Amino acid sequence: MDPVTDSLDEVHRRLAGLRDGEVADYIPELAGADPDDFGIALVSMAGRTYRTGRADTPFTLQSVSKPFVYALALSDHGVDEVLRRVGVEPSGDAFNAISLEPGTGRPANPMVNAGAIATTALVRADGADDRFRRILARLSAFAGRELDVDEAVYASEAATGDRNRALAYLMRSAGSLRADPEETVDTYFRQCAVRVTTADLAVMAATLADGGRNPVTGVRVVSEPDAVRTLAVMATCGMYDGAGRWMLDVGLPAKSGVSGGLIAAGPARFGVAVHSPPLDASGNSVRGVAALRAMAERFGLHIMHSP
Ligand code: GLU
Repeated sequence: MDPVTDSLDEVHRRLAGLRDGEVADYIPELAGADPDDFGIALVSMAGRTYRTGRADTPFTLQSVSKPFVYALALSDHGVDEVLRRVGVEPSGDAFNAISLEPGTGRPANPMVNAGAIATTALVRADGADDRFRRILARLSAFAGRELDVDEAVYASEAATGDRNRALAYLMRSAGSLRADPEETVDTYFRQCAVRVTTADLAVMAATLADGGRNPVTGVRVVSEPDAVRTLAVMATCGMYDGAGRWMLDVGLPAKSGVSGGLIAAGPARFGVAVHSPPLDASGNSVRGVAALRAMAERFGLHIMHSP
């Protein structure tokens, strides 16, 4: 076996017995996830995939979709226009907080739900179907294969997602969301329900790390400046209210989601992904965070670290 797979195996073995955390259940359909699902995958800039554990088990993107849709909004409008509509300041709040700027109603950043919903509305399209079609096509380009929607998870969130609906209506009343709140939230729920594997997520992270070019397919998915901007926002806002501590300990741009997915990117080096459903109090995968900490320490991955 190669040394990278060896190291991933070792981290996986060490953490498989970790029993902390709770599987998210506020979206009813997510509650059925197997707490023992645990996969790790890493994709190099040469486009080689290394994997261990259950790296091919499907799960939904949830908040891991946010940076990729932000990258799409940046490519549609340019950074100045997107900044006028969605900020880039870490809120220090939970993912579903009402972190809107007083006065303007502008959401704090695109990684909290309010900002992600506003970002989804920014995707250029000819109606809601076309908007989701463009989002799915772009997510698929990041992954290097055609992705689809887990309809059961989508329906489950659509039936229970009143808090996100409320956020959209609040933004609409504050003037920071100009699109139809119901339609926008519906598209956002669909984007969260896009189905991926850990191996897909590692390719998606590697595409951001490679300056917007998918290292497996060779396809340019977003421009280099937009990939860099997306990584910058992940670095400051990607780990919910645990973002500061994450930067201290692990030091990589990252994004987590409530289905237990976690991506991190080593710019110009690799993309890595972990999936394990039990979450900590901030909503981050317990094994995911532990695995990234172990790898960061062992390989000196922190971006502030001089090799
Ligand atoms: N679809 C979820 C929500 O909006 C995503 C949350 C997350 O993954 O943090 O509640």
